Amino acid sequence: MLKAKCLWVLLAGASAAAQSHPVPQRLAAAARGAGNDAVFQVSTLDALSSGLYEASFTIGQMKKHGDFGVGTYEGLDGEMIVLDGHAYQMRANGILSEAADDMRTPFAVVTTFKPDVQFSVGRASYAQLTDLIDSMLPSKNLFYALRVHGPFTAITTRSVGKQFLPYTPLAQALTMQTVFAYNNIAGTAVGFRSPAFVSGINQAGYHFHFVSDDRKSGGHALSFTTEEVTVEVQVLRRHSIWLPEDEPFLKATLPPQ
Ligand code: ZN
Repeated sequence: MLKAKCLWVLLAGASAAAQSHPVPQRLAAAARGAGNDAVFQVSTLDALSSGLYEASFTIGQMKKHGDFGVGTYEGLDGEMIVLDGHAYQMRANGILSEAADDMRTPFAVVTTFKPDVQFSVGRASYAQLTDLIDSMLPSKNLFYALRVHGPFTAITTRSVGKQFLPYTPLAQALTMQTVFAYNNIAGTAVGFRSPAFVSGINQAGYHFHFVSDDRKSGGHALSFTTEEVTVEVQVLRRHSIWLPEDEPFLKATLPPQ
């Protein structure tokens, strides 16, 4: 059943009326955000889309801005999943490993994850889950960090192989993506929902990366069906961007023509 109480009501502090499953719950005050409402990103989606896969921002630097997020690695070498302060790299060869702090990223989005609300949801497709979350949000004009944890009946992910100079645009690189299909796998979908007005800077709407509980599988989520999972949502009102100073970025035409 995809039914949930309005997040806006929860955030407004109204008492929760009796609900059928799932029942969203406001976290205890001590567990809530402690004032963190900032999303930080390296470069822009337009830059990545243009093939600017050069990277000068290290994973170690990135971790100072958050313990949770998504991104990619220098040369578009696999998908980045940041969870509980660990940055994982899912390469196109299907092997997931933890990235060293001196590795670099051309594009990443992170926050310090402190969920404001959590609730459980029964079996749901990607579209059903995101529609449900949409129905609960106070506004589509804020950023949200989203953590979905539990068993997935099925999840399809992708990763992209390392690119070499001269780099081609992202759309072209994605024609060589590798797709992975996992069944009955427990893990975490790490994601963000960004407002439509940041399109070009970040991915408008939902963007999930996945990492399995055994830390052996993952990637950029293309589709999934959950079993009963826990969904945690954090509202983010501040957004900052670190812009590269390398020659390709300085000389690029952005947005791409
Ligand atoms: Zn992605």
